[in-house]
Amino acid sequence: QTGSVAVANHAIVIEQTGGPDALVWQEVPISDPGPGEIRIRHHAIGLNFIDTYFRSGLYPATPPFTPGNEGAGEVVAIGEGVKRFATGDRVAYTIGLGGYAEERNLPADRAVAIPDGVSYETAAVAMLKGLTARYLLCQTHELSSRHTALFHAASGGVGLIAGQIARHIGARIIGTASKGKHDLAREHGYDELIDYNNEDFAERVKALTDGALCDVVYDSVGQATLMKSLDCLRSRGLLVSFGQSSGKVDPFDLGLLSQKGSIYVTRPTLYHYIADRSSLEEAAAQMFGWLADGTVTIEIGQRFALKDAAEAHRALEARETVGASVLLPG
Ligand code: NDP
Repeated sequence: QTGSVAVANHAIVIEQTGGPDALVWQEVPISDPGPGEIRIRHHAIGLNFIDTYFRSGLYPATPPFTPGNEGAGEVVAIGEGVKRFATGDRVAYTIGLGGYAEERNLPADRAVAIPDGVSYETAAVAMLKGLTARYLLCQTHELSSRHTALFHAASGGVGLIAGQIARHIGARIIGTASKGKHDLAREHGYDELIDYNNEDFAERVKALTDGALCDVVYDSVGQATLMKSLDCLRSRGLLVSFGQSSGKVDPFDLGLLSQKGSIYVTRPTLYHYIADRSSLEEAAAQMFGWLADGTVTIEIGQRFALKDAAEAHRALEARETVGASVLLPG
């Protein structure tokens, strides 16, 4: 990029992928926004499990790079040709990498305006975590009041939002979570909770549903749960594998899908559901609408200083967090 340099900007930079210590706070020059770009000064940055995948090298990115896929802030500079926003506007976004920074440039057409009454913190985590919960329950499998779903990591950032959307739809939603996190999940819409660390969750699902099992299972835990998740599905049910908090899912023989009852498996990613401007706007409008009418409430479970991102990653990977976490610059 070309342009003048604002040397006051600081960011987390990964020079070499690895553990949380790979996240290093340093001064990073930033250019003026290019054509079609805006520069925003972050007020809140969402912490996401996907950030740990990039940090560890599980997902590819070429160092040096700044992780972070969602955030919210105020527009401080406008690139050539940008009509959508003006300086001072409050905006939020989800986009690949670059978020762990005091300021950043991004394409204006990937940002949305934050409605009055929604805080920067809420808007930041509504983008990746909120829009993910929305597409999983409303698009990947269109849940209705006739359906029963199983959602792993119910008390996580995506999980607590998903529970509330399921409650709004009227679907029955069973959650799994570490034992101490069950009450929180129940408050956020889950009908039943299973302690998957100490119970056989497939057996419990069978008992809870009188053998009918689930129409859909949402599995973001991956390696530790996926095979057993298949046993929670009714014939021709859908397994949605959307993450790998416990490790990468091992490959398996497709023949297993017929043995388990002609079940379906999908491995979706948010960015394919909000690839164009109209689908991004539609998704964000629905999420902000739910926040405005109280259908979805997002409490921030943990706040970390942006420069302490390593501490935030340690807590997330050690399963010490509940709900959404934010990183706060300055
Ligand atoms: P969470 O806040 O849900 O944190 C992960 C949770 O997973 C933990 O709190 C823990 O809850 C549970 N967990 C189970 N096993 C492990 C383990 N071995 N190590 C760590 N955690 C474990 O994270 P996010 O809300 O940021 O993301 C949830 C998942 O959704 C992630 O896997 C992420 O990659 C995925 N995701 C996928 C997207 C997509 O479009 N495909 C988009 C956004 C997120 P407990 O203690 O209750 O077990």
